[in-house]
Amino acid sequence: MSRRRLVYEGKAKILYEGPEPGTLIQYFKDDATAFNAQKKGSIAGKGVLNNRISEHIFTLLGQIGVPTHFVRRLNMREQLIRQVEIVPIEVVVRNVAAGSLSTRLGIEEGTQLPRTIIEYYYKDDALGDPMIADEHIACFGWASQEEMNDIADMAIRVNDFLSGLFAGIGIRLVDFKLEFGRLWENDYSRIILADEISPDGCRLWDMASGEKLDKDRFRRDLGGEAEAYQEVARRLGLLPEGEANMVLDLDTHRKKRGK
Ligand code: 5GP
Repeated sequence: MSRRRLVYEGKAKILYEGPEPGTLIQYFKDDATAFNAQKKGSIAGKGVLNNRISEHIFTLLGQIGVPTHFVRRLNMREQLIRQVEIVPIEVVVRNVAAGSLSTRLGIEEGTQLPRTIIEYYYKDDALGDPMIADEHIACFGWASQEEMNDIADMAIRVNDFLSGLFAGIGIRLVDFKLEFGRLWENDYSRIILADEISPDGCRLWDMASGEKLDKDRFRRDLGGEAEAYQEVARRLGLLPEGEANMVLDLDTHRKKRGK
């Protein structure tokens, strides 16, 4: 038996070589980081839930014609994805003021924005992912104008679709982060949605109570982060009713029993 090759290890996920050329296996960890990894911890069962939630959302997006890297879920913590060349830009879409927008511009958290904002951040941990403008993207050649048009169009489509999906289950989609990649076919590449969509990279507020159902529970030491992720999965219909508190996988089970 040969051990599979690790391609990349990030803060919340690991990428392994896939079974065929052009594929990778994306493994979801329970590890949680915030503030550019200055705060570290773990959320029990997060990897299992994010794998499932992201599978669900990417499958639905594929069905409405948004191309994604998702191929299929392999097991509780892993999914098969298409290998792409990641565009080094984090795309943040905002519907409601929160987080860094509120801090930067002094706009009260929870203020509905009169129009959706798309922001770009340069993916560079050493620099703390600085916010950038289209001008920087063009100047440094991080993506072409045509690619940026595709990225912005897809970000808006994803936002419209997800805002409706979450509104239908009583959740306000405040903001979220997307990543895109280039899928190469011979000498041509096209932009597809990559990474994941889960409560790790979205702000999701309960519409009735305003309660946060996302990673801000961890970032802001609010507690109950595992329950919040479970609640999102439950409302999406991904956890059988009454089983929301069941043991999610063996890893979690063993840790709970101290083994
Ligand atoms: P903010 O700029 O307000 O901190 O984040 C805006 C949105 O993008 C939030 O939903 C946040 O979860 C997401 N986001 C921004 N940067 C990152 C990142 O590096 N990792 C993750 N997981 N989410 C991010």
